[in-house]
Amino acid sequence: MTLEQELVSLLGKPIADAKRRELYAALLKLVKQKSAERPVTSGNKKLYYISAEFLTGKQLGKNLINLNLYDEVDQLFKKYGKSLSSVEDVEEEPSLGNGGLGRLAACYLDSAATLDLPADGMGLRYHFGLFKQEFRDHKQYEVPDRWLSSPSVLTKTNVSYTVEFGKLSVKSRMYDMDVLGYKTGHNMLHLFDIDSVDESLVKEGIDFDKTAIAKNLTLFLYPDDSDEDGRKLRIYQQYFMVSNAAQYILDEEKKAGHNLMDLADHVAIQINDTHPSMVIPELIRLLIKEGIPFYKAEEIVTNVCAYTNHTILAEALEKWPYAYLQEVVPQLMPIIGGMDFGVECAYNNNPDLRIIDAGNTVHMAHIDMHYGHSINGVAALHTDILKKQELRPFYNIYPEKFNNKTNGITFRRFIMHANPDLSHKIDSLLGASWKSNATDLERLMQYYNDENVLNAFAEIKHNNKERAAQFILDKEGVEVDPDSVFDVQVKRFHEYKRQQMNALWVIYEYFRIKSGVTFPHPVTVIFGGKAAPAYYQAQAVIHLILCLQELINNDPQVSKYLKVVMLKNYNVAKAEKIIPAADISEQISLASKEASGTSNMKFMLNGAITLGTMDGANVEIKNLVGDGNIYIFGRSSDEVINLYNTNGYHAEDYYKYHESIRRCIDFITSPEMLAIGDAKLLGDLKDNLIHKDWFMTLLDLESYCNVKETMIYDYSDQERWKRMSLVNTAKAGFFSSDRSIAEYNRDIWHLK
Ligand SMILES: *Cc1c(COP(=O)(O)O)cnc(C)c1O
Repeated sequence: MTLEQELVSLLGKPIADAKRRELYAALLKLVKQKSAERPVTSGNKKLYYISAEFLTGKQLGKNLINLNLYDEVDQLFKKYGKSLSSVEDVEEEPSLGNGGLGRLAACYLDSAATLDLPADGMGLRYHFGLFKQEFRDHKQYEVPDRWLSSPSVLTKTNVSYTVEFGKLSVKSRMYDMDVLGYKTGHNMLHLFDIDSVDESLVKEGIDFDKTAIAKNLTLFLYPDDSDEDGRKLRIYQQYFMVSNAAQYILDEEKKAGHNLMDLADHVAIQINDTHPSMVIPELIRLLIKEGIPFYKAEEIVTNVCAYTNHTILAEALEKWPYAYLQEVVPQLMPIIGGMDFGVECAYNNNPDLRIIDAGNTVHMAHIDMHYGHSINGVAALHTDILKKQELRPFYNIYPEKFNNKTNGITFRRFIMHANPDLSHKIDSLLGASWKSNATDLERLMQYYNDENVLNAFAEIKHNNKERAAQFILDKEGVEVDPDSVFDVQVKRFHEYKRQQMNALWVIYEYFRIKSGVTFPHPVTVIFGGKAAPAYYQAQAVIHLILCLQELINNDPQVSKYLKVVMLKNYNVAKAEKIIPAADISEQISLASKEASGTSNMKFMLNGAITLGTMDGANVEIKNLVGDGNIYIFGRSSDEVINLYNTNGYHAEDYYKYHESIRRCIDFITSPEMLAIGDAKLLGDLKDNLIHKDWFMTLLDLESYCNVKETMIYDYSDQERWKRMSLVNTAKAGFFSSDRSIAEYNRDIWHLK
């Protein structure tokens, strides 16, 4: 049967007569059939990647690419006047992640499958995901993200386990998503849920009764943890996730006829941040139930489990009160107590190493570091900081466990799918080998002086900008000029990522334009990202940006030269639309705070130039492209760490002694702004910047404004800009997640 015949038979009508939804449903069935035909990847040893988040993005386009069917379907649809990309728009994006950490998990599943490594993801099926972001009165509002629609990419299974908590027990159900590698490989993402979840529990916004565990367990990712019930609910979710995972893994091992004493020969578990840390005591508990003695179970589980650290922000290294764990998972407490006793005996002179501290708080990361065999950071600088600062006591006792695995991104999604024109152009220049061997992109360097190629790349960028401009007009109602410089900062809102610094630059630029000084090219500053519902400062920064958008875009004098756009509900689909259209990639975190970043890699791959601090993977980007192809500003991580250690930073001084900084900050509560925004929110934001500014915005503001000004002037030298852009794409191969996964496998998992 031809592809067309297959589709027509699934549709029950000719393609020309089918509606978008019908075409989507038929393609979904086609993908499921083709997946079923592709053998499941198997081997002597299998990886289980346990993660609270999998920010998978839409599946249809990626699956068609990985089945090598995308272009064929695209052509076929065109023949009948249909558009594949508009059919792709029908799919609801799975709302199973929050930001970089969840997206990383999804990239890693794609790469593990592509490298033909047996590797399943394990997580939860959140009914309403994180939340959907809306804007009202220039503020963020959170509503449930109702992404679970039918037909669904998930397949309901009959796999079910009993999970016991202190006060109740629940029966789980497993849902599966096929994970197809590029041209080869077929693994699974297993997501657990319970049938008794009651969506009607959610009344206003995203509020719900946090105590009704059997009804609320999998409603949301990261339920608000600003109160005790919210924190306990997170423990319920985490244990539910790891208990299902552990039971599933041991079941598979028994089915394969393996002796559980040999578990580490057949199973590797990667613990993605501390959310799945309880898998360690849970596995030990289950092995003891199988008759294996405690000390032996500990040793086996240590050889199985490896931990990835994603942040040095103290608030993210989870710790739970002993009493909460005792209430939710009493059966784990003798195990955790025994593990802590082991630590006490081995290192009794160092309280920093204890799992249960003197205040009866349980440190989840300490479980991972003592009872796992590998501890990795996610970029070279980050791993260095872990060794020297944050996790130093652990590095001192376990130097051999520490290793670096610089993050990566899947090129199938972030160039082949997101930027098909560039992808096809590269094919025509280099052949297709770069798609499975990403460093082949470096061969683009031979076109460094080739005007035809440089112009072709520039034209593709321009077309992407035109499409993005249309998208921005449709979705946000803002008209932007495709000939302006697209200056893009899209990521979660957090003070350390310093969107507020970019917003202060917008104010600085507003003054400059008002005083008659303008750039040769207009600039469009594009923001996108969600703030955690209980994170007041981040909400205030979103408010500031939305107010600036209103003020500036409606000022006829300024808007000729400057526009501000805040994309609502930033997600993977929007990332794929906006990143290929970017000229400037804003990576402006306070040095030492961004563990790696991955959007920096996506932008680089798509030919945007980085404006960034020496933080996370920016450092590695700079080493790859060279000083002339990146714009670096701000204090170094050593300087920043020193300022923290010596209490050496005082925002007030910058406000007092720098007239230009003071003017920008004061503008936040100017009459123009107060006519649009909320006086309390803007006032609190301003006060925080002057008196607290924990992430040192004002420290780097001047340096940021200077370098950004140079960069925007440099945009006029298009010959140079096109070369910088080419170099960035050419050197991006290192950041393929295929490379990251190959390293994990070589150093940690040893699957093949
Ligand atoms: C890549 C990605 C992120 C991570 O962005 P950073 O700038 O690295 O924090 C977050 N959200 C989405 C939707 C992404 O695609």
